[in-house]
Amino acid sequence: LEAITQYLDQKNSLALSDLSKFCICGGKREVIKHSNNLSADHAQLINLHQRQVQELKSFFLETKLEVKQIQSNWDEELRRLVYHVKGLEVAGSSYQKVLEENRLLYNQVQDLKGTIRVYCRVRPFLPGQSNGQSTVDYIGENGNIMIVNPLRQGKDARRVFSFNKVFGTNVTQEQIYEDTQPLVRSVLDGFNVCIFAYGQTGSGKTYTMSGPDLTTQETWGVNYRALRDLFQISKARVDAIEYEVGVQMIEIYNEQVRDLLVCDGSNRRLDIRNNSQLNGLNVPDASLLPVTCTQDVLELMRIGQRNRAVGATALNERSSRSHSVLTVHVQGRELVSGSILRGCLHLVDLAGSERVDKSEAVGERLKEAQHINRSLSALGDVISALAQKSPHIPYRNSKLTQVLQDSLGGQAKTLMFVHINPEVNAIGETISTLKFAERVSSIELGAARSN
Ligand code: ADP
Ligand code: MG
Repeated sequence: LEAITQYLDQKNSLALSDLSKFCICGGKREVIKHSNNLSADHAQLINLHQRQVQELKSFFLETKLEVKQIQSNWDEELRRLVYHVKGLEVAGSSYQKVLEENRLLYNQVQDLKGTIRVYCRVRPFLPGQSNGQSTVDYIGENGNIMIVNPLRQGKDARRVFSFNKVFGTNVTQEQIYEDTQPLVRSVLDGFNVCIFAYGQTGSGKTYTMSGPDLTTQETWGVNYRALRDLFQISKARVDAIEYEVGVQMIEIYNEQVRDLLVCDGSNRRLDIRNNSQLNGLNVPDASLLPVTCTQDVLELMRIGQRNRAVGATALNERSSRSHSVLTVHVQGRELVSGSILRGCLHLVDLAGSERVDKSEAVGERLKEAQHINRSLSALGDVISALAQKSPHIPYRNSKLTQVLQDSLGGQAKTLMFVHINPEVNAIGETISTLKFAERVSSIELGAARSN
């Protein structure tokens, strides 16, 4: 901090207005604000920088690193910040360069946290359903959850699972989104991000992603909050970067991809093409509709939901057996240099993970169940291969992983919300959901825990 303060004091003429800085002194966290009168043409760069500082700040506050470790990490970050601030001064330094540095720094920070994160969310008992007994025995602050199996006795009855975070039944939609926000925002800096909702039918996946009711903003899910955020930030950057946002919405049902935003009722199968030329548009024939405000998005969601119901006995039935993927494509053009950056955000409401009893399911139902099983385990295989940094990532085993290929691995970030239904009769699915989640996160978490 001293180094950066000195540097800034020396460079008083440098355009650093209201640069928020923070430090850790004797284990106490402080936020130090500096306000300098500085020239306007650096203001945009400072904006980017400020956001980055904010993200660093929330990173440090969020992680439970020992103070000593924070200090040594902090020294490292400080060096980068000084370097970064110096970069601002370089004549003609383009946003691209700054963004590139931001990306690098951001990635290093993310690496400490893990590019694959798993959060667990426990659904409350629904009105009229509760018998008062929950399989969730205890939720720790450090990402632990203890499950009690009423069908077992003694020490076998309890088991602890660990994730990056566990959200209890009283956590609001807003609190859920808080942790997701930095990931969403990084899409505007050119990252690809996948957010998944996993769990058995009725465990709260759609509640997390969409929310129970589109008309009430308070209960909006991650999808709307993310888009609202993207619009807000792109507006704030309008003097520097011009953003265009487009949305696709597809459904994967029985390993067939369909467009949910068609308006003409055609329900044809779409092909997947993995081609870097397409800039993340892996389903190029799916409608890509421009959106400029959350109202546009709500309109599209309604179309999507209507199309999802086509040909299904009941909306709920079908929606629990297909994966729905809402993809937000963002393209930014830097006004000074004209250079382009692209990012995309995939918001995925997965098919219900419940196992179907093979002796009971027949015909269509059995086929559906097999497709779901296969694609969810293909997703699990891809994420755990990425977590283990395996040289071979088996993207090709399902349509879902092919569609998301560009956004799983590499610089991309993945967040999975696994959902738990606390009812006693769901215990089997609860345990298999938690085991799945543990499999996709174990390596990353192992690293986080050793901090
Ligand atoms: P899924 O999409 O996994 O099948 P839903 O999201 O449809 O499950 O949730 C099932 C029911 O539980 C819905 O009535 C939903 O409103 C309710 N529900 C789910 N999660 C919550 C929550 N966190 N708080 C309150 N109600 C919830
Ligand atoms: Mg659902």
